[in-house]
Amino acid sequence: MVAAVSTSSGYVREFDTTNPNAPIPLAWVKDRTVQIQLSLGNNQVMLQDGFTSFNDSAADALNTWNPYLAHLHYSWIKNSPVTPAQGDDEMSAFFDTKVFGMNFGTDALAVTLLNYRNGNMEETDTVFNKAVSWDSYRGPLTPPVFDFHRVAIHEFGHVLGLDHPDQATPKQNVVAIMNSRTGDLDTVAQDDIDGVTAIYGTGPAYNSIPNGPVLMNLSTRGTTNTGDNVLIGGFAIQGSQPAQFIIRAIAFSLSASGIADALADSAIELYDVNRNLVASDDDWFVSNDAPTIASYHLDPPNSIEAALIVTLNPGNYTAIVKSFSSSTQPATTGVALFELYDLRTSKSRAINVSTRGQVGTGNDIMIGGFVIGGSTGKRVVIRAIGPSLSQSNVPNPLSDPYLELRDSSGNLVEANDDWQQSPEATTIIADQLAPASPKESAMAPILAPGGYTALVSGARGTTGTALVEIYDESP
Ligand SMILES: [Zn+2]
Repeated sequence: MVAAVSTSSGYVREFDTTNPNAPIPLAWVKDRTVQIQLSLGNNQVMLQDGFTSFNDSAADALNTWNPYLAHLHYSWIKNSPVTPAQGDDEMSAFFDTKVFGMNFGTDALAVTLLNYRNGNMEETDTVFNKAVSWDSYRGPLTPPVFDFHRVAIHEFGHVLGLDHPDQATPKQNVVAIMNSRTGDLDTVAQDDIDGVTAIYGTGPAYNSIPNGPVLMNLSTRGTTNTGDNVLIGGFAIQGSQPAQFIIRAIAFSLSASGIADALADSAIELYDVNRNLVASDDDWFVSNDAPTIASYHLDPPNSIEAALIVTLNPGNYTAIVKSFSSSTQPATTGVALFELYDLRTSKSRAINVSTRGQVGTGNDIMIGGFVIGGSTGKRVVIRAIGPSLSQSNVPNPLSDPYLELRDSSGNLVEANDDWQQSPEATTIIADQLAPASPKESAMAPILAPGGYTALVSGARGTTGTALVEIYDESP
């Protein structure tokens, strides 16, 4: 957007012009939540409209669009820990004197860069010109002090796939926040609303997973390395009918929650018990199933994370979470999250999940997560296996696992070092889930409905390969 004033016949869209002979109108995957990393300064500032930071003004600018987005949603992270970068597939908004090293155009207030593939929006970055005198206000424009809020609404309109009506061929004369020059119009106009309605007015109906007295949303976070040291998730499906799941490998979007060494580009492979490849994914946003995955609000925040929707027969399955690699992009290492969502579209269900991975220290321990659905308490058995992995020729097993169970508020529910010391040891034996080594950890608590995490570390800071397992004792 540049400084000045203008005015009246139709919105225009941005296009993927990779093939100039067949331009494709740009849009995000329908039903997606587009998460914007707001890095507009941590300092408190008193702005004319009462906002106390440009992050707050930007969040309100994003929220200005939300009521008009039937099949898309904006979310945001204020003071994001994600360093703005081109090519990280994170959507950043920040101030700078340059646009990733390039000069701003004459009079340019802000620039939004778009990355896309096959007409699908992949990444956007919005840079506000630091050389401009900014405030946040409504009403007539008062240069040389420019209104950040309306410029942000304009830029976030570009993020949605709208272009400048006044620069279209033929030129459109409409009242619109999307006109190239900022003026007295301080919010979206009917033409802007018509534009996003044309793009996001239709899409798959939103879905949700029914609640019930089962283990829901099974997950494990760990470090995935290369070779044999990738993160390996296992799960079992019990019942007589096929069951439907969404399986995800979340990686770089973990950096928005402060994980500094999140894996950059995850891929997932799903195998059956005979080691036949059942399904695989690298970049979820270009998969045919992407809108369905998003309809469950299970769209990974980062476009190049991996997600699958699969219908599986009862049995045992293994998912490998690893770094994408190719002849030009070597595999990397980092923290990743394996997740299993039982969509509960049949009576069959996932009854346990296990993940084998590398246990380090600090943020690099292994963390199992699950939700107890329903309205009554449920007994689960949780195990942290280390030394006995050597029997399956796993190199460098964690010599003495330590297990902590925490509730969704982070409160410690139970801790265990050596399973025979657990007050539930007799239950663990009766369930035929006694670990093979006395150094291993296990517990069998009855838990109230809610979310829990099982943290596996090495006693006294030891590191190595471990297995975290969560079993539904009464499926
Ligand atoms: Zn613009």
